[in-house]
Amino acid sequence: ETTIGVLALQGAFIEHIQHLELAVNSSAYDSIDFDFIEVRTETELSRCDGLIIPGGESTSISLIAQRTNLLEPLMRFVKDEKPIWGTCAGLIFLSKQIINGKPGQAILGGMDIQVERNAFGRQLDSFKVDLDFSGFTSNKVDAFPTIFIRAPVISKILAHKGQQERDVINSRNDYINNSKVEVLYKLENGLIVAVRQGNKLGTSFHPELSHDCRFHKWFIDEFVLKSQSTV
Ligand code: GLN
Repeated sequence: ETTIGVLALQGAFIEHIQHLELAVNSSAYDSIDFDFIEVRTETELSRCDGLIIPGGESTSISLIAQRTNLLEPLMRFVKDEKPIWGTCAGLIFLSKQIINGKPGQAILGGMDIQVERNAFGRQLDSFKVDLDFSGFTSNKVDAFPTIFIRAPVISKILAHKGQQERDVINSRNDYINNSKVEVLYKLENGLIVAVRQGNKLGTSFHPELSHDCRFHKWFIDEFVLKSQSTV
């Protein structure tokens, strides 16, 4: 059995569970049993082969994680190199540095990235745009509807163990050679909104709020099942 958890402290966790269910129901996974669970305790987290951290409000998520003693177990989950996908507030929580964070806002440090909270400002608080992800997925995720709500952007790719740090805003390099972080999607204005680092995925937008479950299927196939098969 493959268990994927969705951190259910705050935010859009129900929608993620629904999309995971849709993703496996619409595909033929003959020999795999899936279990999708809401995660609020260390015991629930320990059952998970992969984890999604949803959008919502990153300061609330980290505060509740601290108060419920889930921060340490989540940090161990990161250290154990388990597959994790952070969307929006979840991306902020998964990062290593924050711009515009609240003082003392705890983060997991699971990806070598700096994230700027609320980076689109007031006028562009929320918007919806179709993005073409067919370049890097095997599932042909083209014209994928993405929804941004007071979204963060990835403002910097950080050094991985002693390598040189690089500011990637407005950079035209799509792959940052001296980092473990791969830029998956950059908007036309140069802002980075999707990154991957090994079996960790970070998106500024909310695939769980669209009517499309292909991104969830890609996370299951490419991140969770692949990392299980290499263990
Ligand atoms: N602005 C929110 C935060 O800083 C994130 C918004 C979202 O998840 N849609 O946590």
